[in-house]
Amino acid sequence: MKCKLCNNKAVMNGFCSKHYVEWFENQVFKTIKDYQLLSPDEKIAVAVSGGKDSKSLLYILSKKFNVTAIAIDEGIPGYRDVLLEGLKQFCKDLGVKLKVYSFKQEFGLSLKEIVDSRKFKNSGLKPCSVCGVFRRYLLNKHAKSFDKLATAHNLDDEVQTVIMNVFKNNKDLLLRIGPITNKKKGFVQRVKPFYFLKEKQVAAYAFLKGFLPRFNECPFSYGLRSNVARLVNDLEVKMPGFKKNFIQAFLKIKQLAAKQGFESFDNVCKVCGEPSSKPVCKTCELVLRFNPGFKQLLKV
Ligand code: SF4
Repeated sequence: MKCKLCNNKAVMNGFCSKHYVEWFENQVFKTIKDYQLLSPDEKIAVAVSGGKDSKSLLYILSKKFNVTAIAIDEGIPGYRDVLLEGLKQFCKDLGVKLKVYSFKQEFGLSLKEIVDSRKFKNSGLKPCSVCGVFRRYLLNKHAKSFDKLATAHNLDDEVQTVIMNVFKNNKDLLLRIGPITNKKKGFVQRVKPFYFLKEKQVAAYAFLKGFLPRFNECPFSYGLRSNVARLVNDLEVKMPGFKKNFIQAFLKIKQLAAKQGFESFDNVCKVCGEPSSKPVCKTCELVLRFNPGFKQLLKV
């Protein structure tokens, strides 16, 4: 099949590689414009993991915006350290500043040390439950000096996250999902320029641009998200357009909830002073559970 715009062979969405890359970047800039995600006079932090999605996002945003890359080193030997090495070179080539914050430095323990501890093994928790909470916390904490925090979440991620938060009855987190979060004291506004692009579209862009890392499978990842991803992909095959329809319906419901004044995170954590819906935030609860002697979180 030929490209819709030239005589070259079509590789994705009916475009050749050159026109697909252009189409993809235009879609990203369109979402940014339509949802007023970013403006050129703002200082933007871009959350980067070293994986294909966040490298693609950093590359595209660096074309038009004032960006700094922020990475979190959870302490997963043989995985994050390898990705971070590639990321350092990537940022250097792009001329973008990279800041790295680690669990070990901030919470006294790496993720590996937490996961290997007897307390964790007896807790019934999964590594991702601790990792996700700590990473969100550190990104928010260190992006506060910026106007916005951009993340590379795509349409598939968002559909899966909505479904998983419904499964877990996480209404606070559900209300924070969307292409841009509301302005709220203590929180940097998060924006997701890939919000309406499917996982495979982002992967195709990263592949064509040569942004795929050597490997990117976390040894601690566990089944729930991949089960939900499979379910969502099956539904998309049976009902083409399911992902987009689902997320658009969700955004409408969220808008209605906002009109009802349904807010959360109105308190601050009495341990660290960060925003929290409970007297002690989830991060401090977990740190004090696995590393009770760690005092650095305490407010001064
Ligand atoms: Fe963390 Fe889980 Fe992602 Fe691994 S898969 S980096 S443990 S959230």
